[in-house]
Amino acid sequence: MKDEKREKLSLDSKMVYYPPEPGSMSISDPIYMASNYQYTEEIYQRVLDGERKSVNIYSRCGNPSEYKFEDQICWIEGGDACLATASGMAAIAITLFGLLKGGDHIVADWTTYSTTHEFLDHRFTDFGVKTSFVDTADVNNVRKAIQSNTKVIYFETIANPTMKIPDMEAIIKLAHEKGIIVICDNTFASPYVFRPLDWGVDLVLESATKFIGGHNDALGGTITMKSKLMPEDTLEKIRWSTLTKLGGALSPFNAWLLLRGIQTLHLRAERMCQNAMILAKHLESHPKVQRVWYPGLPSHPQHEIAKKLLPKFGAMITFEIGDEPTAVRVLDALELSTFGASLGGVRTTTQVPSTMAFLDIPPDQKAEMNIRDGMIRISAGIEDAQDLIADFDEALKII
Ligand SMILES: *Cc1c(COP(=O)(O)O)cnc(C)c1O
Repeated sequence: MKDEKREKLSLDSKMVYYPPEPGSMSISDPIYMASNYQYTEEIYQRVLDGERKSVNIYSRCGNPSEYKFEDQICWIEGGDACLATASGMAAIAITLFGLLKGGDHIVADWTTYSTTHEFLDHRFTDFGVKTSFVDTADVNNVRKAIQSNTKVIYFETIANPTMKIPDMEAIIKLAHEKGIIVICDNTFASPYVFRPLDWGVDLVLESATKFIGGHNDALGGTITMKSKLMPEDTLEKIRWSTLTKLGGALSPFNAWLLLRGIQTLHLRAERMCQNAMILAKHLESHPKVQRVWYPGLPSHPQHEIAKKLLPKFGAMITFEIGDEPTAVRVLDALELSTFGASLGGVRTTTQVPSTMAFLDIPPDQKAEMNIRDGMIRISAGIEDAQDLIADFDEALKII
């Protein structure tokens, strides 16, 4: 299929289709497990002349399975270039180490993924990169935090655990007026629910471990760009300057699993979003539930923004009951849903964000961020919605 025709396909078709491998015409791409590739005199010369992606050298510097996955992510994110990494955290660390240097400043939302927050708040400060943490639901907080050395504004499409959605359009406009790069971690949404590059975000990051892979069996991450602020070869430069140095290459086997995952992302995510809406409405009407946080409910603080930016609303819900021990007892009583850390897989998973994701945040700061001890986070899976409701109703009987 010609690229012009492929470009016109709907997102669903883009997820399913990728061209066969030219040599074998295999419609499931082969897994190139080789760590090492043979040189000829001609290849040797091309490498010496600076050719990179078109020759295979060594798997940490890129491999055909990774390139195929990167190419497919580019199509579904609507980007110009993509770099795949060993995990979501590798994507985040490689992006930030690749773009920033000591003395630079970041403005980040105060509720990013816990490991991201720790990286920005502790590890990155050791290298002289400071971060101001603000509530990005209000662009004025971002405006006030910008300094002359601010290089990056960083937020998540849907932020844990209140499923907050930043005032994205206003932030992107402000950032671009000032020449600041906007980075969005889109993991909680997935490219099915939201495509940040379409709205002007410069770099979109995904933990492909979650919705893209979708089966709780492969770690991976992606960095995709379509930026007016940065040259087109920015990610290839980051591959050579940073990824190969930090060693965060994606394994060929995981690239293959993730590529397989993409082909059903739209079907899985569609069912997950439907299940999330059904569960959120049910929990909101449940007498033992104090509050539900889901962007698809009119009670959510950013419901209007959600309707405009991500009208499928996503698969992530938080609800509140009593205190932390009660939340843990309820989660332990669930039988169909799985009590565990991760999200985005075919099975519904649950966790207690206050202790499992935000253990390091002091209590007064948690209160300001609306993170409460009795919160339960759900990543809705693809099970039958009525079975899920029955599972939650049964578990909630213990309180
Ligand atoms: C899981 C997650 C990450 C980290 O991804 P890994 O693949 O676990 O390294 C980053 N951001 C968000 C929002 C996540 O949920």
